[in-house]
Amino acid sequence: MDSLEIKIYGDEVLRKVCKPVEEITPELVNLAKKMLEAMYEAPGIGLAAPQIGKDIRLVVIDITHPDETDEREPHIMFNPSWEPEESSELVAYEEGCLSIPDVFCNVERPSTIKVRYTDEHGEAQEMRGVEGLLARCVQHEVDHLDGVLFVDKISQSDRILNQSKLKKMAKR
Ligand SMILES: [Zn+2]
Repeated sequence: MDSLEIKIYGDEVLRKVCKPVEEITPELVNLAKKMLEAMYEAPGIGLAAPQIGKDIRLVVIDITHPDETDEREPHIMFNPSWEPEESSELVAYEEGCLSIPDVFCNVERPSTIKVRYTDEHGEAQEMRGVEGLLARCVQHEVDHLDGVLFVDKISQSDRILNQSKLKKMAKR
């Protein structure tokens, strides 16, 4: 099968508020697996359904690095949501996005979160005390499901620095 095409900044699907997934069908699980393939190929650590043109609440994540492990740890999350844990504090960290190539900027986000989602078997899952890169990635991907991009959250100076790149991207 052909690999999925990743939509680039300026594509209107990236600004849609995505629909909840009512039923986890074999087709959707298959789509999620293809999203993982496209993400690994890119390569990236997370991909949300609108990035491949589907406005549904589905994200895939794997923060492991192929050079550092033989065992990859893919997560398929339907209808994911998160909230900060009590111990959470705001931290800045550099982010990028497969839909916004060549732009990397700091974004402030809560450090430690609780994540809820439905997995590919239709089971409700909860992860407590999620931190570091995984916490960051979940928040970035869930933003995508609400039509929010990391460049919406960068400092004004970073915005000015990247303005022309973003404009060119949006015009393609
Ligand atoms: Zn992204």
